[in-house]
Amino acid sequence: MEEARNWSVAVIGAGPAGLFAADALVKRGAAVDVYEGGFAPYGLVRYGVAPDHQKIKKTQLAFEKILRKSRVRLFANVKIGHDVSVGELRERYDQVVVAVGSPGARTMHIPGENLPGSVSATEFVNWYNGSPDSRDSVFDLSARRAVIVGMGNVAIDVARILVRERGELATTDIAPRALECLRRSKIEEVVLFARRGPNQAAFDIKEVRELASLAGVSVGVSGYVSKRPTKMSEFIAGLPRTEDLPRDGKRVVLHFCQSPKAILGEESVVGIKTERNHLVESALRMKPVGSGEFTEHEAGLVVRSIGYEGQPLEGVPFQYDTASVPHEKGRVLERSDGKPVPGLYVAGWIKRGPTGLIGTNKACSIETVESMEADLDQVGPLRDASAPGCLLRERGVRFLDLEDWLALDAAELKRGKASGCVRRKFADADEALAFLGRPSRGAASGNI
Ligand code: NAP
Repeated sequence: MEEARNWSVAVIGAGPAGLFAADALVKRGAAVDVYEGGFAPYGLVRYGVAPDHQKIKKTQLAFEKILRKSRVRLFANVKIGHDVSVGELRERYDQVVVAVGSPGARTMHIPGENLPGSVSATEFVNWYNGSPDSRDSVFDLSARRAVIVGMGNVAIDVARILVRERGELATTDIAPRALECLRRSKIEEVVLFARRGPNQAAFDIKEVRELASLAGVSVGVSGYVSKRPTKMSEFIAGLPRTEDLPRDGKRVVLHFCQSPKAILGEESVVGIKTERNHLVESALRMKPVGSGEFTEHEAGLVVRSIGYEGQPLEGVPFQYDTASVPHEKGRVLERSDGKPVPGLYVAGWIKRGPTGLIGTNKACSIETVESMEADLDQVGPLRDASAPGCLLRERGVRFLDLEDWLALDAAELKRGKASGCVRRKFADADEALAFLGRPSRGAASGNI
């Protein structure tokens, strides 16, 4: 038991996967330091979940409980790979878990993708959620129609935010400048394109039902509608055809079996060209096959919502074809067919790819922690990770601990209450540090 108490672990990333791992680790006797690049913990719960889904955002409270455990410490605003390297963490801790998620966005590899007005859902989601990564983002919502490529839950979130009644958004924690821009939006129609049919749609039926029930919004369907009866295809088939939608109010169109071929425009986006697909049964999945029939659709904004993408972290092997870290039950491998890297583990989206809900990360992190526990006899002399704050202070890293974060959290809630909404987030680390009365550059911070 004495030895288990000294088992020291660094977790990189304070999102759901990192915090589920921290929880499972302390339950098994480890002492855990959680490093987070941003000034705030909770990853996609804070900056991914849509602001009008406050019930899901409340899972933050369960994650806060994990951070409050006596053997968990938070080091926020520490950029691993910049302020401290993964190698330095491996020297100081018995084991290190990488749980950095998939912060990038997949690309379609079609002409015009980089035109102004062609954006990733990741940028758009960061923007409406007030992520510091979106400080410079500007979206032009002055056209009548927006297009979203992809039909996953993120695509539904983006569509809902574009059409939802602004008063309903105003009470959430949506970023004020996003709300301001949405208030001026001229978008009346949002078209979502899926390259396959309703039975292959990646969104959950609950999400599309919510979209179809929004006040002042009608949802219609275009393109192929599956004959194979499933709950999803029956729901979709029950929606009006696009041509039958009422003329007034906002509209969302689910257009199936269309692949994006080019984003149109010279200086900025004016539309998108798609090709109609047939679906062909193949061994693994229904495959979309182009019919040679192309259509140009007018649009002033094209949001590609075709999935998040993992990014490499220096000092951690990376498999570019899957944009994830090669692993065997959470043990990081040198290559996908290589040996394990001693003491290095992985959890969450960067381990298994960007799929699943918040809760899916729990089983994923527990699998990793079980491997870590099984490997404890290979750890060698246990290391003293009692004072990582010294290294950070020596380097002038302005890190924040749990006490700091709780003060920021309380202030955000208070600011929200004063302006009639759930929460008003600090825009970035500088604003958060200024609130805490910390020096703007260098020198010590944190209480550890
Ligand atoms: P996703 O579920 O993987 O959906 C991606 C969509 O993009 C699919 O429709 C896919 O179609 C399409 N796609 C991929 N590559 C394409 C291409 N080159 N051209 C055209 N279409 C393409 O991704 P996501 O929506 O980003 O969601 C990520 C994860 O977060 C999911 O597990 C999701 O459930 C979860 N999430 C949940 C919620 C919620 O519960 N409310 C909210 C947000 C996110 P194909 O199937 O044809 O490849």
